[in-house]
Amino acid sequence: MKHRCRIRRILIAVVVGTLVAAQGIMPPVSEAQGGAKEKSAGKAKTPPRGKEAPAVAGVNEYSSKNFLLHTDLPPDEARELLTRLETMLVLVSGYFQKPNSQMIEMNVVKNQASWPPNSIPPDALPSIEAKAGITLSVTQTRTTGGQRQVVAAKSIVWAVADRGTPQHEAVHAYCHQSFGRTGPTWYSEGMAELGQYWKAKEDGVHIHEGVLKYLKSQEPKELTEIVAPNQKTGDSWQNYSWRWALCHLLAANPNYKERFKPLGLALLSDQQTSFEEVYGPMAKEINFEYSFFLKHLDQGFRADLCSWDWKAKFQKLKGTASVQAKIDAMRGWQPARVVVKAGDKLSISTTGEWMVSKSGKKLSADGDEEGKGKLMGILFEDYRLSEPFELGANCEWEATGDGNLYLRCRDDWNSIADNSGSVTVKIKLAN
Ligand SMILES: [Zn+2]
Repeated sequence: MKHRCRIRRILIAVVVGTLVAAQGIMPPVSEAQGGAKEKSAGKAKTPPRGKEAPAVAGVNEYSSKNFLLHTDLPPDEARELLTRLETMLVLVSGYFQKPNSQMIEMNVVKNQASWPPNSIPPDALPSIEAKAGITLSVTQTRTTGGQRQVVAAKSIVWAVADRGTPQHEAVHAYCHQSFGRTGPTWYSEGMAELGQYWKAKEDGVHIHEGVLKYLKSQEPKELTEIVAPNQKTGDSWQNYSWRWALCHLLAANPNYKERFKPLGLALLSDQQTSFEEVYGPMAKEINFEYSFFLKHLDQGFRADLCSWDWKAKFQKLKGTASVQAKIDAMRGWQPARVVVKAGDKLSISTTGEWMVSKSGKKLSADGDEEGKGKLMGILFEDYRLSEPFELGANCEWEATGDGNLYLRCRDDWNSIADNSGSVTVKIKLAN
């Protein structure tokens, strides 16, 4: 299921919605975004559908610690959905370190015909009919000393009963109820997509196959385009895919994740900051790793294990000097700490063994008969990579270009998480 969202923000009532393709991969583009109206404090109007919505034939009410669910899903599916929502909320609220403070009211429609006439509010009907979702929200603000403060926020979700939409919307509802807003579109939708794909104890990529295929088939969208202001939610599932990709990289890669959470919290509390302000100084590195992430993107890919070490020092070998580097099997490209010029002849030797699967046998840096576990090299020059080349446990190699030498244990990029062990590589000029 691919997501798009519709956001209509009324400061008295804020509406966030999701459009999901009913069939096939290329959903139609439709959605609009409404304007914001300013009104200071007074009694918050209750949203169109309150908690006391009566359970009607076909539509039943279920609740769990954080969710009140009205749905025509069969009881076991309704409970399974509640469990999934609670699990996701633990991850999302744990990430923001802000426990959910208010029940999240969800209306999940499996079969619209099971809902009595007029039981679905006019604001939600178009989304449900489009097999999509929408979150109706109210925010109460108070302005003191020129500062507008959110004093209360309430959201109600309407979503079709597919796999992703209720979870995606629940992220919006949680953010809105906890912070009074969901942040700029790139962040709001990127995090909602991240939330719906999040799996406990799963750090790898697990996304919709259609989204994966699309992202791998395209030239990377410019980061500045993804985070551009004034974007319209509900624009296209393709844009949602790019927003997911950026947020996944920023949340998973250790070079950027430390700054990503405070950026998110600042955006959710309406502070004056931006992606550019926080990551501007690392623009070259982040662009490089973003392209690298998209190039190797696959189910199970670990952005955390494939991050680049930007702090490593590289030196040119002279005379009989040698350099040593420890290369782990459970990581992507790692610095060999040697810079070369085309034509340089190096002698490479290794000690130690590694494994390319939990149950696999111990291998030297020559790898197995299929070449898995073989020591590989690549040259990095000015944020560009050469083609990778084979090395091995003991070999002589003539540099095919200029650059910093990086090494790794050859394995499919999306299956290094079950690797173990490391080899120590010693490099010196060949005689
Ligand atoms: Zn959304």
